Amino acid sequence: MSVDTANARSLFTESEASAIRADFPVLSKPVHGKQLAFLDSAASSQKPQQVIDVLRRYYEEENANIHRGVYYLSQIATQKYEDARETVRSFINAASLKEVIFTAGTTDAINLVASSFGRTFLKEGDEIILSTMEHHANIVPWQLMAEERGVVLREVPITDKGELDLAAYHEMLNEKTRLVSLVYASNSLGTINPVREIIAAAKAREIPVMLDAAQAIVHMPIDVQELDCDFLAFSGHKIYGPTGIGVLYGRETLLNEMKPYRGGGDMIRTVSIEETTFSGLPTKFEAGTPNISGAIGLAAALDYVTTIGMSRIADWENSLLEYGTHRLAEVPGLRMVGTAPQKVGVMSFVLDNVHPHDIGTFLDQEGVAVRTGHHCTQPIMTCYGLPATTRASLGIYNNTADLDALVDGLKYIVKVFS
Ligand code: PMP
Repeated sequence: MSVDTANARSLFTESEASAIRADFPVLSKPVHGKQLAFLDSAASSQKPQQVIDVLRRYYEEENANIHRGVYYLSQIATQKYEDARETVRSFINAASLKEVIFTAGTTDAINLVASSFGRTFLKEGDEIILSTMEHHANIVPWQLMAEERGVVLREVPITDKGELDLAAYHEMLNEKTRLVSLVYASNSLGTINPVREIIAAAKAREIPVMLDAAQAIVHMPIDVQELDCDFLAFSGHKIYGPTGIGVLYGRETLLNEMKPYRGGGDMIRTVSIEETTFSGLPTKFEAGTPNISGAIGLAAALDYVTTIGMSRIADWENSLLEYGTHRLAEVPGLRMVGTAPQKVGVMSFVLDNVHPHDIGTFLDQEGVAVRTGHHCTQPIMTCYGLPATTRASLGIYNNTADLDALVDGLKYIVKVFS
């Protein structure tokens, strides 16, 4: 693989790339007798042995409930869980451990903010800005809250290439805007949104900004202090960690003011039947027994990608994105959906006269795993008048052979269907 000197990219050497791939046991298991080309990491990533080992060790040697046990195992589990919080804090460069809330995932984190921010700060006629390219997870929680409180949701439109219409965004900001909640990188289009410009414009009016970083977190370094965002959500399972765990980063001053989300054990200071006083951050937002093994597994995943380096991962995936985009252009009748200049490793496309589900089913027989459908982004599909797309998405373990298998499969489909 040649190094792109113009961009001074630091690509994995061949031996590094194969060593990384070998860390993921499932990738060496044949599918339908074929070598697996896993191209659905945007839905959920595969897990490296390093994460699997940590999870296994936790259940074999360290398992107990946390925070209230004076005995050895409980103290070990508590220590590991809180160490995991520090790993997350450092990974996103949050200013304080109080700003790192463990959640069940991105969806859960956005529901937390919608419910708690909504009940604390919003009243009838207030406006929240979303966009056409949001995942349903960054639409539905706001609708539920908006309905309850009479809040108005505004929608930033997207262009033909799949970029946010920034002029429309700037016009939408006004004295009624209470929050901007936007996706950092689109799971359907791959678009990386210009979040610095978006945040600066909102900050000029003292409007808080939430970023859905479910996809962005996997593909680029993220520093919440440098971004100056107020909330940021991501899921463990997209970044080579377990399912059922995620993170909400929140600015301490806002989280302090916000009402609790769920009530229960651990998030209280004192309880009587008449009244409860709540504990401080971050436990105020972590009611009940949390996903202890999930947090520990997530920390192992973050350690894994940190050791490789998020910038190197971004370089590798960008080179594969360029290669894949270039090769897909060879397929007759294929049209890319989402052609913004700044993209993460997501290639969505439609093929003349072939339904995405047929494409997905055929490719599966060739060992190529892609996702087909609306990708939980129906407003995008409606905007482009499409029922569905086929989406190939990249992870740290992919290589050009995976993309060659995809293109070979697609060329064969075109032949069969024509
Ligand atoms: N936002 C985006 C951009 C996503 O890609 C996803 C997952 N597809 C989510 C939110 C929801 O994440 P989760 O299902 O892990 O809560």
